[in-house]
Amino acid sequence: MSRTKNSPKIFFLEVEIEDKKLVKEKFPQAKIFNKVLPEKEIVKQCREAEVICPFIYSKITRKVIESLPALKLIITRSVGYDHIDLVAANEKGIIICNVPDYGSHVIAEHVFALLLSGLRHIIEGDKRVEQDKKFYFAGLRGIALKGKNLGIIGTGKIGKNVARIASSGFLMNVFAYDPHPDKDIALENHFSYTDLKTVWKKSDIITLHCPLLNSTKHLINKKSISAMKNGVVIVNTSRGGVIDTNALIKGLKSKKISYAFLDVLEHENNIIENRKLVEFQNVIITPHIAFYADDSMGKIYSEAFATINSFIQKKKIINQVKGL
Ligand code: NAD
Repeated sequence: MSRTKNSPKIFFLEVEIEDKKLVKEKFPQAKIFNKVLPEKEIVKQCREAEVICPFIYSKITRKVIESLPALKLIITRSVGYDHIDLVAANEKGIIICNVPDYGSHVIAEHVFALLLSGLRHIIEGDKRVEQDKKFYFAGLRGIALKGKNLGIIGTGKIGKNVARIASSGFLMNVFAYDPHPDKDIALENHFSYTDLKTVWKKSDIITLHCPLLNSTKHLINKKSISAMKNGVVIVNTSRGGVIDTNALIKGLKSKKISYAFLDVLEHENNIIENRKLVEFQNVIITPHIAFYADDSMGKIYSEAFATINSFIQKKKIINQVKGL
């Protein structure tokens, strides 16, 4: 995008140092922040913004929306948009966009990275050899994926990729719950739809791929956990709020849940809040990195840039969020 007098005031938040050049090349006049901005700072530093392009940790709250008088477009560089107050933005006629598919395969791949690391004791095995200078297998008997029942919650872009890898690659029995089932997706990816109750009851492993909505907040709670198989494994790469952390901790303590593999947490901005969870030996937590791979990052930016350019050129804007 060339530098013009009429370019809107564009503010990019949470840009990694290595991506700054990319943004500058496309939007030389844009203001770029390489960190998460708290509400107060967004209000102070982005007051002139017409376009704001955050990742997921800078919350675009009602206060932010009401304090930025020129704001016309919010384009989040993420699939999820639960960090944006959609109602407040909608009231002000602000366009909200996301990047709906920048590489759903990378998140699906991370699900299996977590499962294999945990169930095959990769981290402990490596530690035994590297730190302890020992080389024996006792105590590290793994759990195979083949033949296990995998229950998927949400069969959108990520969930269906997980189903494909699980059924065709690992030869697992895959079933899923989604309020909007798609028979063709099920047929193509070798899984069947069922109800939530059956997912809880039959799954050896449950993996979450639904958005965080009022209807999915704390979907994994005391009651749903009690309906699960003893020794169930839970994987969450969706949003931390889909799991009630206290119920998860109780489930781990009672051994109802044998492992939890989490890329997302309810309290990502405050790791101290999660300390009880972090301490479990049978819990693996990665710091929200499922999306973060070589090919996905380029696509996130190119899609976000395309949306901003459509806005500038007054073209039809695709990728508008329809979450209201
Ligand atoms: P998507 O919109 O393609 O699919 C979401 C699916 O969830 C849809 O099929 C929808 O019908 C279903 N759904 C809605 N409500 C449901 C409910 N109550 N129960 C079960 N299913 C329900 O989204 P996607 O691209 O597959 O991404 C899914 C989620 O993964 C995102 O919303 C985001 O929060 C998360 N995500 C995480 C990372 C990461 O790095 N960890 C990266 C990208 C996305």
